[in-house]
Amino acid sequence: MEPVDLRELEGEPRSIHTDLCIVGSGPAGASIAKEFAGLTIQVLVIEGGGEEQTPANQALYDVENVGVARMTQELVRNRVLGGSSHTWTGRCVSFDDIDFQCRTWVPNSGWPISPIEVLPFLERAREYLGIGPNVYSDNLWKKLEVPQPPFDPTRLRSQFWQFSRDSRNAHEPTRFSRTIASIDEPNVKVLTYANVTHVNTSTDGPRVESLEIRTLEGKRFEVKAKTVVLACGGIENARLLLASNRVVPNGVGNAHDLVGRFLMDHPRCTLGWFDPNRSAAIQDCFGHYRLDDEKGRHVYLHGVALSPAIQRKEHLLNCAAFLEEIPSADDPWMAMTRLLSEAKPNVETLEWNRPRPPGNEIMTMISHLPSLLNNAYRRVVRHRFPIIGARELGLACLVEQVPDTSSRVTLAERTDALGMPISRIDWRIGELEWRSVLRLNELIRLELRRIGLPEHSHNLRLSEDIDWRSNFIDRAHPAGTTRMAYAPKQGVVDRNCQVHGVAGLYIAGSSVFPTAGHGNPTLMIVALAIRLADHLKLKEFASAR
Ligand SMILES: Cc1cc2nc3c(=O)[nH]c(=O)nc-3n(C[C@H](O)[C@H](O)[C@H](O)COP(=O)(O)OP(=O)(O)OC[C@H]3O[C@@H](n4cnc5c(N)ncnc54)[C@H](O)[C@@H]3O)c2cc1C
Repeated sequence: MEPVDLRELEGEPRSIHTDLCIVGSGPAGASIAKEFAGLTIQVLVIEGGGEEQTPANQALYDVENVGVARMTQELVRNRVLGGSSHTWTGRCVSFDDIDFQCRTWVPNSGWPISPIEVLPFLERAREYLGIGPNVYSDNLWKKLEVPQPPFDPTRLRSQFWQFSRDSRNAHEPTRFSRTIASIDEPNVKVLTYANVTHVNTSTDGPRVESLEIRTLEGKRFEVKAKTVVLACGGIENARLLLASNRVVPNGVGNAHDLVGRFLMDHPRCTLGWFDPNRSAAIQDCFGHYRLDDEKGRHVYLHGVALSPAIQRKEHLLNCAAFLEEIPSADDPWMAMTRLLSEAKPNVETLEWNRPRPPGNEIMTMISHLPSLLNNAYRRVVRHRFPIIGARELGLACLVEQVPDTSSRVTLAERTDALGMPISRIDWRIGELEWRSVLRLNELIRLELRRIGLPEHSHNLRLSEDIDWRSNFIDRAHPAGTTRMAYAPKQGVVDRNCQVHGVAGLYIAGSSVFPTAGHGNPTLMIVALAIRLADHLKLKEFASAR
């Protein structure tokens, strides 16, 4: 399906009517649109970006950062068809059972839905993401038919991640712009370069009525819809609600001053580095594994996480670590790969595998022939990934955050080119995050020593308690700013993702997560989007199907 560029809609009516309006075409919005394809319900997807990124569109994502340093937000978030799946890495993982639980040592924890309720939607999300079985813990070892490393399960457990593959281009993770393009049903339409600047509600705000749309060229439109889903991303969902303040002065859905609060991400740091010359056993243990099933080949990365038992016993947050390799230029396997394929960036390190003259690559292969043959044996006979000579081998860590009311998105005084206030981000990282990382680091070291594997060096900056926060950076996984809760005083949306007290207005995306574990969010985002689509079909459109 070809999206319609709103800028080119000359002479069209200034008001468009639809049954369901979805704002945003990222993983959340695109999945809901796809779930409605082919029904009798008219669906309109409103997307601020176009098919290509433009500096002017990206500038609408400018922010004022007043908290802990974050990656440059107007660069890292993608205001384009398909949202941030345009540049995402494609790592997928489901949340652990403990992530859903109310934990006495984690204030504001506890989801109003259970892991069992989410399970069928995680299964359906696999199709969207092109991933294998949703098994991410020690249970995977049996499927892999590989011996399980003997970590003490009361301390550490295996943590796996897998990588999304686009069904139309196996070399890339799913780009949701292609998901949108694959919808070929007349009931779903997409408008691009269409920015929602205000959510209009009935007087005093109990029901959503319409959306105000603007283009950067100054056109104004209105969309009237029975039901609206905001799927604008973890920061933008909150910004749009807060900026919709002409009828309800604090913003839509903000009767209890909760919109924008509880901002979380996955603070990332490096625990230390392994000696690349003594790292083969570590790379063997923590490397990539492959699983073949009827749907094809799936790749899993192995790391470790704090066991639920130790989180409960020592009152820690969920936290996981994995290897990050920067390959050395003279690794023969990499030389062969470069020779046989197009140059592409390493998705994890964003380092580019630069093409070198073919003669150099062949010389590298010949001069390290034993290593090349070992890896060929490993690959062909043992079905394992090659062990790559590394220039640097870091142990990276992602940690869950305590939902904190003062970690928040508010509106800045400065406005964007559409006159909308930009987001003011005050992201905070608490002491418990740091303590959980230090404990994970200590346990990994103890366990590596106990089972006879080399240990990583100390990252001294991590143990200094002065300014330890400067060792962390976000992972472009904002969450929690329109959190889900049973009661309006505890959260912005209810367990069905409807904004408390605003009939017809729903939210999709990580902003609804009450807590966010350590796991990359997109698998959960897509699962919850499918769950929301099912709910809308039943609750809002039962007679129309
Ligand atoms: C570099 C990078 C790597 C990442 N790697 C991973 C990973 O490996 N694994 C993982 O799980 N996650 C990863 N993420 C995060 C992942 O991309 C997001 O979780 C996911 O894209 C969120 O989906 P979404 O649909 O909720 O929001 P988005 O993808 O942000 O989509 C929101 C859409 O809404 C549109 N929009 C916003 N505001 C408006 C408005 N006012 N009017 C109209 N349209 C609007 C935007 O243009 C955008 O298309 C990564 C992110 C980045 C940036």
